[in-house]
Amino acid sequence: MKIKCPKCKETAELTPDFSFVTCTKCDFDMTYGEYVKFVAHNDLAYADILGDYTGSTEGETAGSLDDWDD
Ligand SMILES: [Zn+2]
Repeated sequence: MKIKCPKCKETAELTPDFSFVTCTKCDFDMTYGEYVKFVAHNDLAYADILGDYTGSTEGETAGSLDDWDD
């Protein structure tokens, strides 16, 4: 599925089994676990992205991801 690349902010791809995140724009390439750590470390606002996957509602105060849906 498409997700936002935490490195270049372009569209990255998450494999259907949630194992890898790759971005062809900037050659970002990590396991999903590493991606979660990378995102959490670099920008706490992205925590709400992860909430979509885990069911958590934490982080929904972030207001800079209006282009995220769909
Ligand atoms: Zn990228």
